[in-house]
Amino acid sequence: MKSRITAGWRAIGAGAWMFAATLAATPAGAQSSAGAGPIILPGSITGSISPPASSAKSWTGEDGASGHPLMTAAAIREAAENFDQCIAGMWPEAARRRISRESFARFTADLSPDLRIMDFMDAQPEFTKAIWDYLDLLVSDARIQKGREILETHRRTFDAVEKTYGVDRYVIAAIWGIESKYSALIGDRDVLRSTATLACVGRRQAYFRDEFLSALEILHRGDLRPDQLRGSWAGAFGPTQFMPTSFKRFAVDFDGDGRRDVVSSVPDLVASTANNLKKDGWRAGQTWGYEVEVPAGFNYMQANRARQLTIAQWQGLGIRRVGGRDFPRQSDTAYLLAPAGARGPAFLMLPNFRAILRYNPADAYALAIGHFADRLRGSGPLVQAWPRHERVLSRTERLELQQILATRGYYQGEPDGRLGGKTVEALRHFQSAAGLPADGFASASVLERLRGR
Ligand code: CA
Repeated sequence: MKSRITAGWRAIGAGAWMFAATLAATPAGAQSSAGAGPIILPGSITGSISPPASSAKSWTGEDGASGHPLMTAAAIREAAENFDQCIAGMWPEAARRRISRESFARFTADLSPDLRIMDFMDAQPEFTKAIWDYLDLLVSDARIQKGREILETHRRTFDAVEKTYGVDRYVIAAIWGIESKYSALIGDRDVLRSTATLACVGRRQAYFRDEFLSALEILHRGDLRPDQLRGSWAGAFGPTQFMPTSFKRFAVDFDGDGRRDVVSSVPDLVASTANNLKKDGWRAGQTWGYEVEVPAGFNYMQANRARQLTIAQWQGLGIRRVGGRDFPRQSDTAYLLAPAGARGPAFLMLPNFRAILRYNPADAYALAIGHFADRLRGSGPLVQAWPRHERVLSRTERLELQQILATRGYYQGEPDGRLGGKTVEALRHFQSAAGLPADGFASASVLERLRGR
């Protein structure tokens, strides 16, 4: 898992194909820094699971929506015609990676480009999901029940992994559940073919060359068989959706059979996921964060990932843990996240939340993992209500919001329909000047306000 992070192509599992039509392909981190406003998840989401009905369809043959010169229909056709040469041209690098000539020839012999991926890569859906709908779908009672069964069935594995890596079993179980609904939804695209396509066609070729060559290494070494190496259009595979490069960095052979089988071996996939989190900075014995209550009149400019205070300092600003509970350690540093603005739940996020974000840099994803882990541990639902009356802005409305912010001097970037950090900061400054809570949440009413009505 994991490299999805660096590139933002990571999968968000379970049923994620359902999001394919509704979630925009946003570059990693675009949403992550400020965290308020209707969520657009990274393109990872669209990449996670192949759409069931449409996966058999062929490429639309149209220019990509990104406007990138390598995504025009003509550029895609030209790259597809050069596909065989492109693959052959990667042999020297494969040889440097100690892939044998025989393996290279065998695994690349029947490759052809899967151009349907170009449609997924540049998808810019008009509508997106609100974070509460996303959490409802992923943290369902059925999934919690299944997660508890998994934890019980594999109790000894989780015991051993927790002891070896110091990573909370409930977080690992949450990742497995969210990514693939406990292996039920893994995706059925040939990872070698997908990464070969992306390495030779489209706007992310340099990134995907490494993924393709890493996939070849996995096959050459025999950690996984070709029939196991299936997954999302973006190359994530297995129950916890490793990318080939993240497999190289994090996969371990925990059951000792000589293969790092993160697809079919529960000890290997659980331990490899734990190893991933550990190497991303997971701190043993700590949780990811706490749901908190924010006092009336609070300055939401402080709800910013860059503003790290100790729990004691946050308490001094009037922040309280929900349910009247105490914080375990006053000296922990945390930042305040209000993903749906001043009218929704707020959270103090500890360093382990950042470890989850390195797995996938979307607040909605990391919050789903953290909350799901708490539910598996036996905690109840969130205490505070989401602002479910809020309508999520369409892409057209998001573009308009950015355009007005730009016209009024708050936003310097190019309007792109993505509510990333710059947009949220611009919105905060507008809200502050207008005497509204500066939560950066792009509601329909704030758009109305911007329109000057
Ligand atoms: Ca093994």
